Amino acid sequence: MLVRLMYASRALPTVDQEALLAILRQCKNRNPEQGITGVLCYSDGIFLQVLEGGRSAVNALYNRIVADTRHTQVELMTYSEIGERRFAGWSMGQVNMARLNRALLLKYSATATLDPFSVSGDVSMSLFEELVATASIVGQG
Ligand code: FAD
Repeated sequence: MLVRLMYASRALPTVDQEALLAILRQCKNRNPEQGITGVLCYSDGIFLQVLEGGRSAVNALYNRIVADTRHTQVELMTYSEIGERRFAGWSMGQVNMARLNRALLLKYSATATLDPFSVSGDVSMSLFEELVATASIVGQG
């Protein structure tokens, strides 16, 4: 049984580029063995992550992530059983914010900043889908 989970959280101020790379390394090292795929977006101190995989594996990872001291205010945005993956190509893709067209953010929210806390989970998922469609995701594999 496959599920897809999306959450948002706020990074601690101590999270810098090096800490981000350490998180991505953890994702890429550990997710393949758990059969987990997904995408991680970080912008303006906010994380937005989609995790896909077996229900037990995704739930176990989410519990570890919630306990992670590098971020706070972890909020579950969407959780659903799925027939197929949307982000099968990424053990953890990352949104290339440098390539991100800010107009895309404006399309889905009141301001051109990433703020999943102020929009519905469905809206954030639509944004992710468009990012994939416009090849704004990097870090294949
Ligand atoms: P341990 O490795 O034993 O770590 C225990 C705690 O130490 C962690 O909860 C964390 O608070 C802290 N910690 C661990 N590593 C570091 C470090 N390098 N620097 C500072 N503190 C650290 N893990 C995945 O496997 N897959 C993912 O997709 C994934 N996505 C994440 C997304 C975000 C936004 C964050 C913040 C973390 C993510 N992690 C991910 C990491 C995850 O939270 C756990 O740290 C990791 O899974 C290891 O779990 P563990 O129980 O073995 O913890």
